[in-house]
Amino acid sequence: MQFIETRGNDGKKPSSVPFSEAILSPSASFGGLYVPEKLPDLDKDFLNKHLSSHYKTLALDFLQSFDIDIETEVLEEALKRYDAFDDPSNPVPLVQIEEDCFVSELYHGPTRAFKDMALQPFGYILSNLAQKRGENYLIMAATSGDTGPATLETFKDQANIKVACLYPDGGTSDVQKLQMVTEDADNLKVIGVKGNFDDTQHTLKELLASEDFKAELKERNIHLTAANSVNFGRIIFQIIYHIHSYLEMVRSEKIAMGDKIYLVVPSGNFGNALGGYYAKKAGLPIEKILIASNINNILTDWITTGTYDITERELILTESPAMDILKSSNIERVMFDKFGGERTKELMEALNSDGKYQLSADELASLQEDFVATFSNDEEGEDVIAKYAKKDYIMDPHTATCMKAYETLREEKLPAVIYSTAEWTKFSSTVSKSLGHAVNDDIEALKWVNEHANVSVPPMITGLFDKPVKHTVVVDKKSIKGEMLNFL
Ligand SMILES: *Cc1c(COP(=O)(O)O)cnc(C)c1O
Repeated sequence: MQFIETRGNDGKKPSSVPFSEAILSPSASFGGLYVPEKLPDLDKDFLNKHLSSHYKTLALDFLQSFDIDIETEVLEEALKRYDAFDDPSNPVPLVQIEEDCFVSELYHGPTRAFKDMALQPFGYILSNLAQKRGENYLIMAATSGDTGPATLETFKDQANIKVACLYPDGGTSDVQKLQMVTEDADNLKVIGVKGNFDDTQHTLKELLASEDFKAELKERNIHLTAANSVNFGRIIFQIIYHIHSYLEMVRSEKIAMGDKIYLVVPSGNFGNALGGYYAKKAGLPIEKILIASNINNILTDWITTGTYDITERELILTESPAMDILKSSNIERVMFDKFGGERTKELMEALNSDGKYQLSADELASLQEDFVATFSNDEEGEDVIAKYAKKDYIMDPHTATCMKAYETLREEKLPAVIYSTAEWTKFSSTVSKSLGHAVNDDIEALKWVNEHANVSVPPMITGLFDKPVKHTVVVDKKSIKGEMLNFL
């Protein structure tokens, strides 16, 4: 299987590359992304064959049907990372919360957010490739709170990879910050940046574009790569749990094989939703994908009106920070799939130069064949959290945005799988507040919710508060380059 480029080819890069190349050097011509030339077939035979498969067995067969240039033994080793999830026999449990509403919990990995689903196996594969090639890679990540911990965790002590992670000081939850600053490994560097997430991201972009920083890397023989969801190596793992969740529904006799369901996805960069879209396209019986956002509702506009316009928008900080986003990178892959490379390039260039674009009526209709969308604000989210706590189900504020989509967007009376992207323990202050008890910090919130809502706090969260802090550096923007070069 070869991978092609969403904005066409510039004549300097190869016009198609194997999987290994697409994940080591994820930026394609004209600033585009890599996508697979075609998708494997998730027909009834494939689904029936995996009705009683373990998650890892399903995953291995799916990855092999993609025909990627990674050896079976390496894939098997990578998938063993799921053995460290809460229940090795089923890393992604499905929980019923309404007659026709099921929560697929994607957060049972080491950092308690769904980023582990893809980053865990991906980290193993990337390091293995780097070792085989005898090359050294640097991954730089700016994080608003979930990507950072998951990236550090997957690459810690992995040969031939270094990770530098920038976070906005004061812009993450206590737990998220502790997850980063207590990571102890020589190949990891964590730097707090004075400013908000936008400043942090901007600082990173400037550094990555600077010629003398690139020259310094070259001199040290270090390649740059990315581990965010522009990297297809993450997307490929995000298709699998959609198949798994469908099979769980069949296994528990909530649906019959072939019946259609809705997926509800709390979305930011659209990697999770894109995985669902690819699964649907490959043949998984999905009626539609419901996209849930917070008040940074650019995706709601895009899907309901075909307008993508960031000129009048300012990023608003919410209680679901992983979805506080204005430029959602993976919708480009959907547009490429539907409208082709030439049109995608035109639209993405319009976004870069004018800050906006408008889809045609036909294009919008095509988008709406697969997606519908809505958004909720923080108060609505808190109400949802309180409502389900009364029914003995504790959800985090990102997951909570799904409930309005579930309640208002289904055109058919079909069951829905909603995706829970984080454990409540990462956003305990918001959860505590929603249950009527405002707190000053996460320790207090974790304790209160634990005592009042009959939910436990896992050891990797409680343990954080006793772990020694290894990374104390907080700098202003202009000192980052120096910090980085010191580390390298
Ligand atoms: C990253 C993240 C999201 C957004 O996922 P995308 O794939 O970027 O759309 C939603 N919720 C949580 C908790 C996350 O960490």
